[in-house]
Amino acid sequence: MALIVQKFGGTSVGSIERIKKVAERVARTRREGNDVVVVVSAMAGETDRLISLAHEICKVPDEREYDILVSTGEQVTAPLLAMALKSLGIKAKSFIGFQIGLFTDRAHTKARIVKIETDRIKKELSEGAVVVVAGFQGITEEMEITTLGRGGSDTTAVALASALGADLCEIYTDVEGVYTTDPNICPRARKLKKISYDEMLEMASLGSKVLQTRSVEIAKKYGVPVMVRSSFVDAPGTLVTKEDEEMEKVLVSGVTYNKNEAKISVTRVPDRPGIAARLFGPLAERNINVDMIIQNISHDGYTDMTFTVSKEDFQKALEIVKETAKEIGAEDVIADTEIAKVSVVGTGMRSHSGVAAKMFQALAREGINIMMISTSEIKISCVIDAKYTELAVRTLHDTFELHKEGGRIEEER
Ligand code: ASP
Ligand code: MG
Repeated sequence: MALIVQKFGGTSVGSIERIKKVAERVARTRREGNDVVVVVSAMAGETDRLISLAHEICKVPDEREYDILVSTGEQVTAPLLAMALKSLGIKAKSFIGFQIGLFTDRAHTKARIVKIETDRIKKELSEGAVVVVAGFQGITEEMEITTLGRGGSDTTAVALASALGADLCEIYTDVEGVYTTDPNICPRARKLKKISYDEMLEMASLGSKVLQTRSVEIAKKYGVPVMVRSSFVDAPGTLVTKEDEEMEKVLVSGVTYNKNEAKISVTRVPDRPGIAARLFGPLAERNINVDMIIQNISHDGYTDMTFTVSKEDFQKALEIVKETAKEIGAEDVIADTEIAKVSVVGTGMRSHSGVAAKMFQALAREGINIMMISTSEIKISCVIDAKYTELAVRTLHDTFELHKEGGRIEEER
């Protein structure tokens, strides 16, 4: 007897057949005696289709109208699932964002949840209904419709689980869980039984697309246990949870890669106070996120600056930087879009050394040149030539023996 939030992604509700299958899965959980709140995404491809319709009308669609448009995908799947549940004899009711009082800020297209009113949902649950909620959308205080950013249904689900004090939030998706790396490029990748919130945050933001990063932030903040599992195969998934001692013993939990960044270098920048602010200020003003930054030591009063941005922002960033470079008297701006960032992630790094050296040695053995390096407490990232991505990932996976259960390397002596 528990309260369970189950979220089904786009491929899981991609056709009527699949919606019926989802209904069976939900019905089973309900019949076992649990209270169930279901969050659904739009049918696979539907959000993309709606966005491209908008782009057929204008390059930069009005954000208010965009949100009203793209939120309709989820408005379709929620009632369809409720109908499918009813035809299985399960009491069910669907709701869209405003009906349950899911309030967000006013940041259209990437709004943040500020408050969820739980009265309505609790009432329906107490009357024995399964509550089906359209994910990805909310409402502002002014009753304007907002959406939560791509992949935002995960965030709806985790936020609801937290607001309702649910015992578990299950994320049903098209993979069986969180893997040590992408199984498509590394056949030895292994499904993890457990992963800590912090590791999942690094993995999510480094390009493993299983969960929207924001949903993991909320899960961590409120301690919501999240189970990632397949809606197609009946197998145990990966539990995203608080760090425990067992996890700390594992040096490296996963290897990730991201091919969606580009590198920009500004050469011979006059080295004086305020120069970095001058270079990055205009990028921030235009909402461009800069990821890795490297500043070299200065030679004869000049320095080189290199940084990465996402490929979507690349053209815009390049134009802005060229402009600034001219103004500050830098020599040149050099761009490279054929790069990849490979990273190793693991909470065990907090208390053990030697991981970075091991990583660099492994890449060197394969003759892969490292262009940039950045680290956090539980992550080391290297930028390399994109054409070596697969090789780098497989090599690192082998080096840290991630194919083995509890894959760990013995401490170097
Ligand atoms: N339908 C939205 C998207 O495709 C939200 C989601 O699926 O989580 O991004
Ligand atoms: Mg998703």
